[in-house]
Amino acid sequence: MESTLAPLPPLPNLSAQLLAVSIIILQRTIRHNSITTTRPINQNYDFIVVGSGTSGSIVAGRLTENPNVTVLVLEAGGPQLITSDAPSHARQQVGSEIDWGYRTTSQYPNAGNALNGAQVVIPRGRIVGGSHNMNFMVYSRGNRRDFDNWANNYGATGFSYNEVLPYFLRSENNTDANIVNANPAYHSTQGPVVVRTPKNPDPVITMLKQVVESWGYPEADQNGPMQLGINFFQQTIFLNATRSTTASAFLEANNGRPNLQVLTRALVRRVLFNSTRDADGNLTAIGVEYEYNQTVYQVYANREVILSGGSINTPQILILSGIGPRDHLNQLGIQTQVDLPVGYNLKDHVYVQYDFEVLDMNLITSGIDWTLENMYRYFVNSAGPLSQFPLVFMYLNTPYNNETDWPDIQIDFNVDPVGNDLESLVAGYRPEEREGWRNYYRDHVGQRNRMGILCFHYRPHSEGRLTLNSTDPHDAPLLNTRYLTDPYDIASMVEVTRRALQMAHQPPFTRLLRLYQQPIPGCTLCSSGPIWQCDSYLECYARAVTSTVGHQVGTCKMGNGTDSVVDPRMRVRRVNRLRVVDGSIYPTITNGNTNVPCMMFGEYGASMIQQDNGL
Ligand SMILES: Cc1cc2nc3c(=O)[nH]c(=O)nc-3n(C[C@H](O)[C@H](O)[C@H](O)COP(=O)(O)OP(=O)(O)OC[C@H]3O[C@@H](n4cnc5c(N)ncnc54)[C@H](O)[C@@H]3O)c2cc1C
Repeated sequence: MESTLAPLPPLPNLSAQLLAVSIIILQRTIRHNSITTTRPINQNYDFIVVGSGTSGSIVAGRLTENPNVTVLVLEAGGPQLITSDAPSHARQQVGSEIDWGYRTTSQYPNAGNALNGAQVVIPRGRIVGGSHNMNFMVYSRGNRRDFDNWANNYGATGFSYNEVLPYFLRSENNTDANIVNANPAYHSTQGPVVVRTPKNPDPVITMLKQVVESWGYPEADQNGPMQLGINFFQQTIFLNATRSTTASAFLEANNGRPNLQVLTRALVRRVLFNSTRDADGNLTAIGVEYEYNQTVYQVYANREVILSGGSINTPQILILSGIGPRDHLNQLGIQTQVDLPVGYNLKDHVYVQYDFEVLDMNLITSGIDWTLENMYRYFVNSAGPLSQFPLVFMYLNTPYNNETDWPDIQIDFNVDPVGNDLESLVAGYRPEEREGWRNYYRDHVGQRNRMGILCFHYRPHSEGRLTLNSTDPHDAPLLNTRYLTDPYDIASMVEVTRRALQMAHQPPFTRLLRLYQQPIPGCTLCSSGPIWQCDSYLECYARAVTSTVGHQVGTCKMGNGTDSVVDPRMRVRRVNRLRVVDGSIYPTITNGNTNVPCMMFGEYGASMIQQDNGL
């Protein structure tokens, strides 16, 4: 077990460090802020894109490659921030000013039982770059079987793996020659989104990876022909160590285009339609209504409106526009324009984290502290603790899964520094159990050597539904995710946590890590036997601290049946000139993190829009 770190150049004196850091912060802030248009908003554009997240940024960037096409992007959040650029601060973005701050409805007794109101936190980015600006930067497309499944069983014609692969490749600029050379057909070095392998991962996770490999577990490329195996996650991080969002790559990089305008802090309320229907009885979208500076405006699209507001907000906008299930629209008092199953098919990945102490502080190189030295290393050397968020993944199969080339569980290792304030650490838990959580965390407050072992179930059966609480566009939708309601899902969660804990209690893991000693409040350990054999505790734990990393998808399902909202060209059924291009169109969730398919939707959707408009 060994790990070597690349040496860094010597630090200059403090004033030189401060000056260099200040100049780079200023330059980057100016670059981010200049995305907000200073030009007046016209009455008409060829295309209006709602949302500048993962998919919307690509759609707008690709469409405006043609200088004759005008695009307005309306984004509810503000410009990108230096803080969310820093890879090590990925977790710190959850609950921050750039988070929409959603929560599920009560999931009691199936999930979130330890949390306030049994409501699981649903993080989503409200910022240029969208959720890509607060995600863990993992570049993982999913299993080829996911896409073949979409095409073969969900009516998503044109979305088999071989058909979508070119659109994955279009955005990718993979900078790891080993990865590219090992599977050249699966990677590209030509796209604008930089993909990297972590440069100086914490020695502890490198060592854990080596241990698992020494047990005969293969190294895998998560985007290659076979998922089963272990490796560092490839991540969307620029070579200067900042988060490589599609907004940086497709909007900021093209900010000088006269045919592209991005209006930030503009909240779209609804889609506007022609007052008459076409000969087939279909509606025609003509523009959108949005709020900016507390004033309501309307703007019109000559060609199309593209909704890229993400899996929570796109269905909200559709329902507010009268497109949704008739009974729900009636309940809200909204006139039904088109009766479609908007909001159904809400899918997500849940995980739980087990906390470990890393026994040797020297094995940690990640960190979240904005010290001058860390900032100099990050801003000037593109290195140091702030520059990285390395994760090791393992894909595995539970005994319940007999499709072994399509694994159903994942274990990740990642250093997760504990915050400095005990009260903030316990604030998310039920008030009556907070004292127990204080005891759980008390000895760990401020520790920089926590290791999270994250246990995911990646092919869940449970399915939820999004509805609206009211017709107020500012009101958060109701998210009844129904986590862990399917017996297979809870059995798989128990299984994945069993595997993780069993592994972590074997030498040489035990020489590197120690599980937090206390059981979590509300769950009781078995009186004998190792923790990983105590199914009642593992189940209680999974149902208590159920978490999600924002993989909600599917609420405007794509397909060719009456259960779909958009067709395989991403057009809203029975509506002309209105498309949805974002994570809400997943027919069902993939066995991978959900950002990269949203990038693929952006590329594929832009190309469909160009074709259908003769561009
Ligand atoms: C904490 C977290 C960690 C994650 N980690 C990973 C990971 O490591 N790898 C991975 O592959 N995936 C990850 N994901 C998921 C991934 O980031 C999302 O699947 C993806 O970003 C969704 O893209 P999207 O285009 O559908 O929506 P988004 O990127 O969320 O974009 C939607 C945009 O629309 C804007 N918007 C919404 N409503 C309106 C409105 N009414 N008017 C104007 N604008 C509006 C939003 O502000 C936002 O900018 C993570 C997500 C989160 C939250």
